[in-house]
Amino acid sequence: METMRAAVVRSFGRPLSIEQMPIPTPGPHQALVKVAYTGVCHTDVHATRGDWPIPPALPFIPGHEGHGPVVALGPDVSGVRIGDHLGGSWLASACGACSYCLAGDEPLCPAQKNSGYSFGGSFAEFMLVDTRYAARIPVGSDPVAVCPVLCGGVTAYKALKVTGARPGQWVVISGIGGVGHLAVQYARAMGLRVAAVDVDESKLALARKHGAELTVNALTQNPGTELTAQVGGAHAALITAATTQAFDDSLAMLRPGGTIALVGLPPGSFSVNIVDAVRRGLTVRGSIVGSRLDMVEALELYATRVVDPSVTLRPLDAVDAVLAELASGQVDGSVVLDPTT
Ligand code: NAD
Ligand code: ZN
Ligand code: ZN
Repeated sequence: METMRAAVVRSFGRPLSIEQMPIPTPGPHQALVKVAYTGVCHTDVHATRGDWPIPPALPFIPGHEGHGPVVALGPDVSGVRIGDHLGGSWLASACGACSYCLAGDEPLCPAQKNSGYSFGGSFAEFMLVDTRYAARIPVGSDPVAVCPVLCGGVTAYKALKVTGARPGQWVVISGIGGVGHLAVQYARAMGLRVAAVDVDESKLALARKHGAELTVNALTQNPGTELTAQVGGAHAALITAATTQAFDDSLAMLRPGGTIALVGLPPGSFSVNIVDAVRRGLTVRGSIVGSRLDMVEALELYATRVVDPSVTLRPLDAVDAVLAELASGQVDGSVVLDPTT
């Protein structure tokens, strides 16, 4: 049996082991992709720690921002050839037949599979993709910089869309990490004015570099007070931090009629003041990755260089250090792993 290098989770909250694992065989509609590079998302921290109510079955290979050339095809594949460049993403596959799938809301499909969680992940030299759901990597893409678009980028883009914010309006991005630094850029590309909130000055500097006009350090300033004082409150907000504190701070940043998109996935809850939300006509909604069409659009905006991810390349061997740095907020922009080193 042929094997590949892979980073494997054998128990939650323990270091991953770099092991030789069998190279998977593509089934119906699937392709085998030789992973060129893979991004690391904070969701991989949640997955490897078993943070969420339904954790992945052990052992598993995390990662859902990988891409590379197709090297083998399973049965019943159409429209994909050997050598085509495909990316895996959180939405590995869905049923294609439920009301959500029919409506183009496949990230809500109850039968979906998620890469690096309930479907093999990208922290390996090879991975499977369902060719009906895989992303087509645009020709001319930088193979390292394109990785975070496959989750962080499409997530940021979709969340901005669902707030309904229009050009010229203010959006506040809370959490300027992998998702958030891309949200700043997609927001600028959509003609929005951007305020950024984080607890780390270097993240706020990154937000300014990518076009944020206003930055607030939530460690030393109250985000609601600042946003209200400086712009009368934001029309929309994306909460992309992985801490509940950012959610506690969120509604006060909005102006009346504002919409907040919850994106970060820290386990826990936050409270909404009923009288405040009703009287100010606020909308609170969740947003989970994006559809296949959202992915096409997010990649197109990347390919036209409107969006330029800030990435650091590291070896797969460093995966544990990278996950620890993400968990403690020490990563600027996104980290991309080279599976061969
Ligand atoms: P990241 O670690 O790169 O970024 C998180 C950022 O939040 C960091 O810059 C950190 O400094 C900042 N932060 C911490 N506390 C804060 C506070 N109180 N206020 C403001 N900012 C604060 O993580 P990421 O990869 O961007 O992912 C963030 C979260 O989004 C994770 O929970 C992840 O699972 C989730 N996520 C959700 C989706 C989705 O589809 N909804 C997609 C991708 C990631
Ligand atoms: Zn992700
Ligand atoms: Zn479905």
